[in-house]
Amino acid sequence: MDDLLAFLRIDTQSAKGKGVEGAKFLQDYMQSNGIEAELVKHKAVNPYVLGEINVGAPKTLLIYNHYDVQPVEPLEKWETDPFTPTFKEDKLIARGVADDKGALMARLEAVSELKKEGKLKVNLKFLYEGEEEIGSPHMPSFLPEYAKRLKADYILWEGAGRGPNGAPQVVLGVKGLLYVQISAKTPKDLHSMYAPIARNPAWELLDFLRELRGPDGRVNIPGFYDDILVPPSVEGLTASKLGIDLRLMKEALGYEVQDDFLVKLVRDPTCNLDGIQSGYTGEGSKTVIPSHAFVKLDFRLVPRQQPKVVLAALREMVKKRNLEMMVLGEEEPFRTCEDSEIAKALIDSARETFFMEPLVLPNSPGTGPMASVARTLGIGQIADGVGPDNPGSNIHSFNEFIYKRDYRLCKEWMVNLLKRLGV
Ligand SMILES: [Zn+2]
Repeated sequence: MDDLLAFLRIDTQSAKGKGVEGAKFLQDYMQSNGIEAELVKHKAVNPYVLGEINVGAPKTLLIYNHYDVQPVEPLEKWETDPFTPTFKEDKLIARGVADDKGALMARLEAVSELKKEGKLKVNLKFLYEGEEEIGSPHMPSFLPEYAKRLKADYILWEGAGRGPNGAPQVVLGVKGLLYVQISAKTPKDLHSMYAPIARNPAWELLDFLRELRGPDGRVNIPGFYDDILVPPSVEGLTASKLGIDLRLMKEALGYEVQDDFLVKLVRDPTCNLDGIQSGYTGEGSKTVIPSHAFVKLDFRLVPRQQPKVVLAALREMVKKRNLEMMVLGEEEPFRTCEDSEIAKALIDSARETFFMEPLVLPNSPGTGPMASVARTLGIGQIADGVGPDNPGSNIHSFNEFIYKRDYRLCKEWMVNLLKRLGV
């Protein structure tokens, strides 16, 4: 694990402009293991690390990871120094060990081993990013410029380790996202005695929100559910069937969830209220009719819902109520087919490595730029797996850790995956 430990010692907090040393470390490591590697600055503060091994195979796998990490604060909550990797019982604690340096190094070590033994049967390309944790601001301009160099048949996403039932996870897609801010305005604040005749933006916004989403959570945008495609395997993702301990979820959320929580997380599109603000919220009372109210909403979209289509219908609703809308984010959902080569190879290699049935999620409950990557690079098969993390790994939080044995298993999983992709 020495290479991983050395990598973990490097501070790569992209939010604080740190990371170049991490990129150089990777370039050195790759070159000393016979992998072509280059740092590409593009417009990023932390350079992209591009690598390649061409063994003349018919197929090519692109491996994506990121070497930057989240800020370590609050430091006082860490039991150990975040950049001094520490073994404690069966754990390895350090910032980035679960997200995403552990997966990156385990995969790279597996590749190096196979290469040394001359057993690589698939061409490999590597893309390591140093700005993932600050929202990948330069990827939209980087990808089209380097699309030719990154051309591949499949992409292995940044890493998914064990799921909530302890089984290795294979994730075949992501939800999409539409993020908007909607506001109601009048020319000025008024004395509340005008209430019988006045417009009140706060009420106007609340009326709109009640129209938008029913008490059962159903979203009332016309056509919202029309294009949804639910793979039959989703209904099997119940806690009782998968052996998921619901107490773990209670710990994570602070309250109880039902047996079908994972079904809903994967299957259901949502309208979430992120924040709402209006009027007088100070101490005591002020009788006033506010002149401004706004709300921030995010819609998580599931495969085949298009943010553009949802947005157009939402725009009509907003217009009818004389509200204003600003679009703050748009990301398409994405799903790779369960019987695609990459999915099958990931699932079979997980079984072979862990001696248990992997947890296959048709898409993650979260969002990522898979769709835009797929379109820009012209690659239809993108899947996630081969990570050393577990649901309790404290990703983005303090005392981030992985289990030592999971690192070894992650390496083994990568070896088994590469052997299958080469056939
Ligand atoms: Zn992260």
